[in-house]
Amino acid sequence: MSHGALVGTWEQRLRTRGKSPRDAHSGMCVRVDPALSVRAAVARQARRAFPVDGLQALHERGTSALHVPVALGGTGGSVPELLAVTIAVARRDPSLALTVGMQVWSAAVFAAGSEETRGWLADLVLSGASPCLAVSEADHGAELLATSTVVADGRLTGEKWPIGRTVDAPVALVLARDGDRRGPRGLSLWAAPLRDEERGPRERTTGFRSAWLAGLTFRDRALPDTARVGEPGGGLELVLRLFQLTRVLVVGIGLGAADLALRTATRFAEERRLYGAPLIELPAVGRRLARAFHQLRRATLVTASAARCAHTRPEELGHASLVAKIVAGEASLRVTEAAAEVVGARALMEDGPLAALAMARRDVLAVPVFDGSSAVCLTSLAARMPALLASPADPDPTRIVGDLPPRERLPALAASPVDGALEAVDDDARVRLAERHREVLADGVRRDPRLLDLAAAWCALHADALARRAGLVEDDEAALHELRSWVAGDLPLAGETW
Ligand SMILES: Cc1cc2nc3c(=O)[nH]c(=O)nc-3n(C[C@H](O)[C@H](O)[C@H](O)COP(=O)(O)OP(=O)(O)OC[C@H]3O[C@@H](n4cnc5c(N)ncnc54)[C@H](O)[C@@H]3O)c2cc1C
Repeated sequence: MSHGALVGTWEQRLRTRGKSPRDAHSGMCVRVDPALSVRAAVARQARRAFPVDGLQALHERGTSALHVPVALGGTGGSVPELLAVTIAVARRDPSLALTVGMQVWSAAVFAAGSEETRGWLADLVLSGASPCLAVSEADHGAELLATSTVVADGRLTGEKWPIGRTVDAPVALVLARDGDRRGPRGLSLWAAPLRDEERGPRERTTGFRSAWLAGLTFRDRALPDTARVGEPGGGLELVLRLFQLTRVLVVGIGLGAADLALRTATRFAEERRLYGAPLIELPAVGRRLARAFHQLRRATLVTASAARCAHTRPEELGHASLVAKIVAGEASLRVTEAAAEVVGARALMEDGPLAALAMARRDVLAVPVFDGSSAVCLTSLAARMPALLASPADPDPTRIVGDLPPRERLPALAASPVDGALEAVDDDARVRLAERHREVLADGVRRDPRLLDLAAAWCALHADALARRAGLVEDDEAALHELRSWVAGDLPLAGETW
């Protein structure tokens, strides 16, 4: 599966602006919507302008409806489709992809909310609005069990930070402690309509400059019992299930940013001439780009496979989404750095024709940080290793993960070679890794860091297995040829970058 094939239809939809008498052959005018162009993205981030125009353009193309189940009036998009939208948007504007992607938080309500809450949230999302998710707290970061925001006697008190899209979200989904209850069953999720005085000032961020990050402060405000989403005490589980799904989409932002950087660098290397020939013909440059392209395709494969898991093998989603976050988060950083290296001094310039590269570089840095940082994901994966390394003939693979995505009913998808990474892992390599794992455990070191190396090695096996199934082989010459055709065929988009 190629990168282009995954993004496919959505890429076209973002480019097309409707019928035009000028193109009698197709009846369509293939022009980038100004609000969805790379140029607009660069201009917005220079002004730190919240992407109101981009959000509207996406809403008009049906992206909001994808998040709402068909039974509630939406189009119930598949997870691969949500990933395709994320990549298609992020390869123009990662800040816009982050901002529009917040609509996915509504999945928690559609999975576990009351009929009434589901109904009004569906109307809200269908109108183009988005809830924000208020889970993080400045003092507690990734340690969700330490959450100090509380709902006691029907009143919500606490501070959340940093939270995305607080500027226009009409409602926040807030993770809060139930009175003085402790432990994993002591937290619930609440849908709290937001008041203006609860929205804190915007943070100035180095990346995602046109997105909006801020704090929320709740001071003893009344919340009816009907505002609780799901079971009392079920908030942590709901949020962790939600992250399985959103992790895959977050990774899509990284892939899109890396794609933007790589296209920008490749076009630069085609056009710049040194020593009497295009830069791309220098072996060091061509090889760097080819390997980055291979890495991007491999990471896309792992992510696409994880997205499909939500439908085809939901019991594997927990594991597959962790692997995707680790592999593709890291690959996005590396591809973007390779692109910058190829461009040279101009990669540092904030203004001018290569500003898109500087934007992608800044934005991609934050991708491994949220919805479970890469370090958090690696730690979680290390804890799952004993089950993952068990024999593939294990009679109960669901105990490996046993989590279901927080979406109502997921449309069935036809089988694909990128399904079933677990069973595709090379048996001999799995046995060798299992032996090594037993040896490390036998040393009895508490929190042994070598377990993280073994989890990383597992990620490589998983990615290798998928690459084998999809017939993706590392071949510099072939990759460079394909990269050049890909970028050349992308003229309508790349052409308006500079
Ligand atoms: C662009 C952006 C958008 C965001 N949007 C939202 C949002 O909409 N809603 C929301 O609730 N939050 C949001 N966040 C917050 C994000 O999810 C937090 O970054 C997260 O909660 C972690 O907190 P922290 O960054 O303070 O890191 P900390 O938890 O303080 O961690 C510090 C370091 O320790 C490591 N670490 C922490 N725990 C572990 C562990 N168990 N194992 C291994 N390493 C560990 C981390 O990887 C990190 O390197 C956003 C963040 C960013 C950057």
